[in-house]
Amino acid sequence: MADLPTVRSCATSEVHERLLRTVEGYADARTNIEGQAWRAAMRPGTVGRSGCTLIPVVVHVVHRTNAEDISLAQIQSQIDILNDDYRGQNADVSTVPSAFSGLVGDARIQFELASTDPDGNPTDGITRTRTNVNGFSSNDDVKRAADGGADAWPADRYLNLWVCRLAGGLLGYAQFPGGPAATDGVVVTHTGFGNTGTAAAPFDQGRTTTHEIGHWLNLRHIWGDDGTGCSGDDFVADTPNQAGFNTGVPTFPSISCSNGPNGDMFMNYMDYVDDAAMVMFSKGQVDRMQAALDGPRSSIGSSTPCVGVDDGPGEKPPWKEWIKDNPKDWIKDNPKDWIKEPIKESPKDWIKEPIKELPKDPPKEFPKEGSKDGIFDPVGPVVGPIDPIGPVKLDTPDLPFVIGTGAGAGFGGQRRSAAADALRTQMWALYNVLATHGLEGSVAQGVQQAEALYRQENG
Ligand SMILES: [Zn+2]
Repeated sequence: MADLPTVRSCATSEVHERLLRTVEGYADARTNIEGQAWRAAMRPGTVGRSGCTLIPVVVHVVHRTNAEDISLAQIQSQIDILNDDYRGQNADVSTVPSAFSGLVGDARIQFELASTDPDGNPTDGITRTRTNVNGFSSNDDVKRAADGGADAWPADRYLNLWVCRLAGGLLGYAQFPGGPAATDGVVVTHTGFGNTGTAAAPFDQGRTTTHEIGHWLNLRHIWGDDGTGCSGDDFVADTPNQAGFNTGVPTFPSISCSNGPNGDMFMNYMDYVDDAAMVMFSKGQVDRMQAALDGPRSSIGSSTPCVGVDDGPGEKPPWKEWIKDNPKDWIKDNPKDWIKEPIKESPKDWIKEPIKELPKDPPKEFPKEGSKDGIFDPVGPVVGPIDPIGPVKLDTPDLPFVIGTGAGAGFGGQRRSAAADALRTQMWALYNVLATHGLEGSVAQGVQQAEALYRQENG
């Protein structure tokens, strides 16, 4: 078979940047989604669905040759792999070095081939389409019947997986949450799908699909998509800062960005290593995926018992009990909604004890300077520069939006502007200041309370 991939490649970032350029509203949607993810990260373990989530999958097999018309066995092997990987039940999770084994997460997500089609009729969850296209690219033609592909099923109810021959050694790509429904889902080349049939080494263990669905659930590449620099960020606190991607089967430790002695978490599904070498999501990544299920992916999937794991990340942390408010009441998806009324209670009342595990520092180093080719400058349309201690404009709905911008929403990792990074730095500085007073539970509420104190003390 020609052009079988030898090194992992993923076009998700490229597609993300194309959507930023071409789809009106996508950048704003990404900003809001990153804001929601950021707020969720401030409350690790409190945002997300309880128990496990069962997601119905439709596999669109788009084939030019009989070989590309992959078997049910190959499709089912992929579903089985996903169900292991997204529960941390893959046998090779035992290969995680002890330095990282405490960070292995159970994403509490399971997958099944859809049993009902969009019209309510029984289905095996597979569509099969003959095409004349000899190798698709990341231009989404495979997602359109008019271009030789297969149309998506409603993306608010199904995870669409397209399996076809991708040209040029491309293994797959995904669309982050916030993009058009018609192209929402994951594309994987048939030789990288499942572990039987046409699956070909070294991408024959189904991990390309695990990786791409990670993107579909809002995960970024673990090295931060900044080339080989140390300034990119995956917005997950427990993944070490990492320079570029790792390939093949690295030897532990693989050190970069002064992240010794343990080095890169190259055995993570969101790196670029071979299938045999990627074996885990981190707990922070699980929180971020659960935030996506609580936010932009909230319409999809159904609750199902978590079976097979008797404890671990799926358990609610004990401090959930003493956070009296339902987080959903005050973490709203719409930034304009969740900070409209002044806080009535005293700061100490609405959270009984400080949370021990919140990050005290930015998860990664901030870029020393931004590139000049930002897609857009968030400072203009959003809010002017803010001083974390002084005259923050707390009475406007801008603040949560700034938080969203601060999380790097809407930017390719290497294209974040210096202004956006400065805002993010300031938000973290603000967070840390608040943390010293036990106000860190919600930056927005805490800031609002700080402002009230500021006004009280300064007339
Ligand atoms: Zn990727």
